[in-house]
Amino acid sequence: MSKTENKQIELPASITVRELAQRVQASPIDVIKILMTNGVMANINQTIDYDTAAVIASELGFEATLEVAEQAEVIDTGTVPYWRQLIANEKPKDLVNRAPVITILGHVDHGKTTLLDAIRKSEVAAGEFGGITQHIGAYQIEYKGKMITFLDTPGHAAFTAMRARGAQGADIVILVVAANDGVMPQTREAINHATAAKVPIIVALNKIDLEDANPEFTKKQLAELGLVPDEWGGNTMIVPVSAKTKTGLDDLLEAILLVADSNEIKANPNSLAVGTVIEAEIDKTKGVLATLLIQNGSLQSGDFIVAGQSSGKIRAMFDFRGKSLRKAGPSTPVRIMGLSDVPHAGDFFQVYKDEKEGRQVVQKRKLATQEKRSSAPKATLEEMFANFQAGKIRELQLIIKADVEGSLEPIVESLKEIKSDEIHINILHAQTGNISEGDVILAAASNAIIIGFNVKADSAAKKLAETERISIRLYNIIYRLIEDVEKALKGLLEPEYEEVELGKAEVLAVFPISKIGNIAGCKVLQGEIRRNAKARVTRKGELIFETEVSSLRHEKEIVREVRQGFECGISLRNFNDFQPGDIIEAYTFEEKKF
Ligand code: GDP
Repeated sequence: MSKTENKQIELPASITVRELAQRVQASPIDVIKILMTNGVMANINQTIDYDTAAVIASELGFEATLEVAEQAEVIDTGTVPYWRQLIANEKPKDLVNRAPVITILGHVDHGKTTLLDAIRKSEVAAGEFGGITQHIGAYQIEYKGKMITFLDTPGHAAFTAMRARGAQGADIVILVVAANDGVMPQTREAINHATAAKVPIIVALNKIDLEDANPEFTKKQLAELGLVPDEWGGNTMIVPVSAKTKTGLDDLLEAILLVADSNEIKANPNSLAVGTVIEAEIDKTKGVLATLLIQNGSLQSGDFIVAGQSSGKIRAMFDFRGKSLRKAGPSTPVRIMGLSDVPHAGDFFQVYKDEKEGRQVVQKRKLATQEKRSSAPKATLEEMFANFQAGKIRELQLIIKADVEGSLEPIVESLKEIKSDEIHINILHAQTGNISEGDVILAAASNAIIIGFNVKADSAAKKLAETERISIRLYNIIYRLIEDVEKALKGLLEPEYEEVELGKAEVLAVFPISKIGNIAGCKVLQGEIRRNAKARVTRKGELIFETEVSSLRHEKEIVREVRQGFECGISLRNFNDFQPGDIIEAYTFEEKKF
């Protein structure tokens, strides 16, 4: 596409792969593929900067400009999450206050998990139900008679996934910044996300117990990024805390209530429930278990809900402590049983009064995915091997997941040792941990096979692998794993015939001969050209045509072969369109010797 035809698009300073894909109306997998061809390995929830995003956009026919801050207002109103729109459409008299939903963001190791645990333990464990043993992705506390909901999924990913799906789940972001470390890259990224989602930020200035904590310096850094402390006349609450010694937690909760009070955090508890899937899994005895955050309306046991591509009647509902519930209102995280399939984290859910209508919605969504699936390239082992045999691929792309570093290393090393001249093993990604949705996305984008050692594929990964037709092979014995890859390669390396190059000739002139067609006057550059050999025509390095040498002449004589350095006349079967400078490669197939 020429530059003048490019559509204009505005992109923010940073954007997740998923959101970029949405904005340029491409599939996230296509975006990841383009990123990979540009040497950037990114997963769907990863944030890329403006420059990178602009390159992707331009490859997809868009001309990007940087979105300026004042314009964010205009752009964001178009992407107000559906549930917020529903609340906005409610009659003001029906709206009541609901608990603020808090998500915790910040740089790795700055103390997000410790802070969430500290709040949970100090505020919840003292309650009548004893300690909470199970993490379901969200919990609630009561502070000074008011409820506060915390999302405790690995904050960042959940938040970006939810935001990218237009379902900003949080009302307030707690930005954790370690006072000894100051502002780091993910701190900036978190600020960008929260600002773009127009969610107010409270800073938890953590680790103030440490000797090298430098709160004043960190505040200065934050002020430079637009988070000016209220004590300096700005409007950001910066609360010094220590998640470790549990200092300042009350101040932080106080700050949450203050910020919640000054923002309209409301919903209509009498509507049909809508909200977001926080996480979901399949349990052998209980079936599909999903944690939902109700964002408007109330959810009741027996309601029929549609969540992404799954649906079902709620058979049982629990709060985050595991206590059975019959009904739950806005801002409540609930665990439910009864869905037909495992929905994705970040999927929107909605209650349907009419079960039939709900089922039709799911059916339509499934059909749309199936259509996409049938046009998607296959990355099954069989298909890949067929491609190897057809000579279409020369690299076996692998993604390796193992339980511990101790097994990952020898696996990678042994795989690297497998020698083959023809097929190269390329390990795209090797990491410990279960096979995730992100691994499958990477595999789909790069036609890779996923190999797991002593790990499982989580349900989202399995589902996506099925849709994208990605092979996941699981092993628990290292030598079996290696043997299988070796066998596979050997299988591939044993085609009955292999291609043998004979020689190359350059076209110097073209002679039209009546009845015969065009004959190329050539010079043999290398090897020899043989009559009846297979032939390939390339022009400026690009393959133009594949055929056979139909006749070969040397000084008007019909000959069987012409060697390097000699001139000859070549005609090719079904090909007349020679141009001086074209290269004719002659080759043949020979039985492979083992
Ligand atoms: P996350 O990656 O942001 O979730 O960080 P973690 O909560 O896992 O904390 C990273 C490390 O910092 C852990 O070793 C914690 O024990 C430590 N840590 C967290 N909060 C504090 C704190 O307030 N003071 C001190 N001294 N260490 C902390």
